[in-house]
Amino acid sequence: MWTIPKTGFIISVNMSFKENLTVLYGRNEIDFKVRQLAQVIKQDYEDKNPLFVSVLKGSFIFMADLARQLDFPLEIEFVRLSSYNEDTKSSGKINIVQDISFEVKNRHVLIVEDIVDSGLTVKFLKDMLEEQQAASVRVCALTNKPSRRTCAVDIDYLGFSVPDKFIVGYGLDLNQKFRNLPDICVLDEPKQQSEMR
Ligand code: 5GP
Ligand code: MG
Repeated sequence: MWTIPKTGFIISVNMSFKENLTVLYGRNEIDFKVRQLAQVIKQDYEDKNPLFVSVLKGSFIFMADLARQLDFPLEIEFVRLSSYNEDTKSSGKINIVQDISFEVKNRHVLIVEDIVDSGLTVKFLKDMLEEQQAASVRVCALTNKPSRRTCAVDIDYLGFSVPDKFIVGYGLDLNQKFRNLPDICVLDEPKQQSEMR
């Protein structure tokens, strides 16, 4: 059981371990941003029968909320990529854990991501979709952490620019936990943050 106060407050989460979380973006702010993004995306994709490619697992809630704000024909596919070795340190190498089963050729594709950090995941996926001759490939990211970028990536539709802090909630995890938090929170636990990278 946890209590979710307004943005900026400290909350305690009573799970298998206890950390302090600071709300960075509350659920109402996220909801407003998702609606704003949907308006722009609608203008650009309404007549294109686009294919949205949601990057699992982190973007599943964002994808679901975004899709429900869009009232025109579109298709949704999921891909699961991993940039981590077994020791959870980032390897810089992307592995396809679950591939796309859709025919991408001549489709207008929108990648839906939870966070662009180094940029490696999005770059890998964009290159892959372009190789498969998509008509267009754009990127919609809920959050962006530009301070950690190691390769150039264009984000066409962006929710929030976040500071160089490890964030959880609204789909984003720490060791598979916290995805179900309705707010985007900063985890105040330096040891575990560094272990994830
Ligand atoms: P990339 O470094 O390739 O841009 O991002 C790879 C993945 O690292 C993201 O999709 C996300 O799963 C994870 N990641 C990067 N930064 C954070 C963060 O602050 N919080 C969480 N929960 N995951 C992150
Ligand atoms: Mg992701």
